[in-house]
Amino acid sequence: MSAKTVSVKENILAANTEKAEQSRKLLSSRNVLMVNVMSSPGSGKTSLILQTVNRFRHKYRIAVIEGDIASSIDTDKITRQNIPAIQINTGGGCHLDARMIRNSLDTMDLGQIDLIFIENVGNLVCTADFDLGAHKNVVILSIPEGDDKPYKYPVIFIEADAVVVNKTDVLPHFDFNLDDFPGIIRGLNPSAKVFPVSAKTGEGLDSWFSWIEEMLM
Ligand code: MG
Ligand code: ZN
Repeated sequence: MSAKTVSVKENILAANTEKAEQSRKLLSSRNVLMVNVMSSPGSGKTSLILQTVNRFRHKYRIAVIEGDIASSIDTDKITRQNIPAIQINTGGGCHLDARMIRNSLDTMDLGQIDLIFIENVGNLVCTADFDLGAHKNVVILSIPEGDDKPYKYPVIFIEADAVVVNKTDVLPHFDFNLDDFPGIIRGLNPSAKVFPVSAKTGEGLDSWFSWIEEMLM
């Protein structure tokens, strides 16, 4: 990579961070918590968000921003639960950026919302480079993906506030060392929380729900 290429990337990221800071300030001033959920495709972002929405929908007002390269399949799953969802189609782009989120926030009545989930584009690589203005960044890793992913994609795990290990229901069928996994994450990121869960069976979700709710109270 040439020096020029590096500085262009730095400028893009600096502009992105500035926009993200504006969103974070706006949300904080309106008492809205925003959580950015990242993972590979198929790790369970939509499932975890739906479980969390169903747990809290009678107590808190929730909205979802859905990022996908194409389609509104996940947005349709959310709106079917009568939860407001905004679709962002990146048109081939492999991540969301702060401007897309800021534009989405401008269409929402923030006075009527307590909690916003962002479902990022399924991608463990560049999603982590772009601050979206969320208060917390969450990475989901599912058991079938393997316990070596924090070594292969360290940046996203280093920047995460919480790592959700999803699909613990299939643990017996895979060589995923769940006992040692929290230690691996601690080695990269000592302050990250680790939540082993099954969004399918509900196992382990109570600790995750408590972590979310502590931030809402
Ligand atoms: Mg999804
Ligand atoms: Zn990207």
